[in-house]
Amino acid sequence: MANNGMVFDYDAIVVGAGAAGIAATGALCAAGLKVTCVEAASRIGGRAHTDTAIFGVPFDTGAHWLHNEHTNALKAPGLALGLNLYRAPQNGVTHGLKDDSVLWDEFDRLYDAIRQAAKADADTDTEHTTGRPTDRALSDLVLPTTPWSYTAVSMLALSIARDLPDTSLRDIATWEGGDDFFCREGFGHLVARTAEGLAIRLSTPVTGIECLPSGVRVKTGAGEITARAVIVTASVGVLAEDVIRFDPPLEADRRAAFELVTMGDYNHVALLFRPGAVPVPPDTWLTYQLQPDDMGIARGGGFLCNISGTNLTCFETSGSFSRALQAAGPDTAIDHGIETLSGIFGSAIRRDFLKGHATAWRHEPFVRGSYAGAMPGGHSQRKVLGRAHAERIHFAGEASHVGQQCSVSGAHLEGLRAARDVIARLR
Ligand SMILES: Cc1cc2nc3c(=O)[nH]c(=O)nc-3n(C[C@H](O)[C@H](O)[C@H](O)COP(=O)(O)OP(=O)(O)OC[C@H]3O[C@@H](n4cnc5c(N)ncnc54)[C@H](O)[C@@H]3O)c2cc1C
Repeated sequence: MANNGMVFDYDAIVVGAGAAGIAATGALCAAGLKVTCVEAASRIGGRAHTDTAIFGVPFDTGAHWLHNEHTNALKAPGLALGLNLYRAPQNGVTHGLKDDSVLWDEFDRLYDAIRQAAKADADTDTEHTTGRPTDRALSDLVLPTTPWSYTAVSMLALSIARDLPDTSLRDIATWEGGDDFFCREGFGHLVARTAEGLAIRLSTPVTGIECLPSGVRVKTGAGEITARAVIVTASVGVLAEDVIRFDPPLEADRRAAFELVTMGDYNHVALLFRPGAVPVPPDTWLTYQLQPDDMGIARGGGFLCNISGTNLTCFETSGSFSRALQAAGPDTAIDHGIETLSGIFGSAIRRDFLKGHATAWRHEPFVRGSYAGAMPGGHSQRKVLGRAHAERIHFAGEASHVGQQCSVSGAHLEGLRAARDVIARLR
């Protein structure tokens, strides 16, 4: 690969083999470019990973829902691969309510308040003239009014992985809604299947990226490689903490964006029971009445029960509660999940408990959180995160998509966008 007299190892290097990196690598290869993808971890998939070793059945340690099936970029590839994709059943159960319309009415009321406030803000938007964001914290308008408000709020918080005071109204209002799908083999399995045939080097952490006169030098734990361009798909958690040193250093406005679009916390406490122990149909979403703490933040989560007809149930937590459970350690998290289920189905469920596993995404060295949410005033910063640096260093990932942020589909679409940018540049 010669360019301006320099010889490069590759046309392009992709850093990270999560959803964004896999999509980018595939698109660059399809365009006939010489590409390699370097991944720090010993497996591909990043935050989309299906484990089958822990429980003997598919367990998505990260992403599980194919959100917004009508625009989800992974649905068509999954179907083309012959995987078993199906619509997520609408079969919620709310412990303590015979008629759970009370909860769902409250949920709809909160969502309406968000939509109306976002519209009102947009109608009086002065950001383009003043440069100051017109945005607010979700907690300013999502005010609890019924005993079920905190449960409704917690379902909202699950999709944003943070507490309401730390969440931008605009960011939530731009999120594309719609029905979800599940993949019986696991969402992580689906993502991994889309990587088949791609050149990916595992266990190869990138420590530095240096711009050369007409290309880049990428320093890895296994030596240096060069290319005409690079796409970096590491999370904002990894980038903000300088795991990768850039030369020239990252611009001030990108560093400022790292302060406003930050990694949240979302975790699964997976619980395997004997058959029939959790007496609800497959894929039931089970909730219960949550109470706020002194700070007004709901403590608790929800359960996705008997996932895809297996005996695996996941306790889902988000925000500061999820962070506290991670800090307390897996045994405490697992016990909290079982204790909560005992309160719902009776203490006999403990006897039927076989095995548990709690994720702790904040502690994963090459992720450092769950997904990137915008602080109040931070929504517009997603675009900054997707901009190229020093012309040849491109960025992609869930954090820079607007509309499908925080999702596998958004990461995939950002990977394709960055690949298009590189292809256009190298032509
Ligand atoms: C618990 C949890 C539940 C979730 N649930 C859903 C869901 O139901 N539906 C949904 O759509 N999304 C969900 N998400 C979000 C979704 O998983 C992510 O948005 C998406 O997978 C991110 O993809 P990515 O490619 O941007 O980043 P990543 O998946 O983080 O990929 C980046 C890759 O870069 C690698 N890397 C980092 N640093 C380096 C380095 N220095 N050198 C080399 N490689 C490096 C990492 O190891 C990683 O493999 C969930 C996430 C979590 C954590």
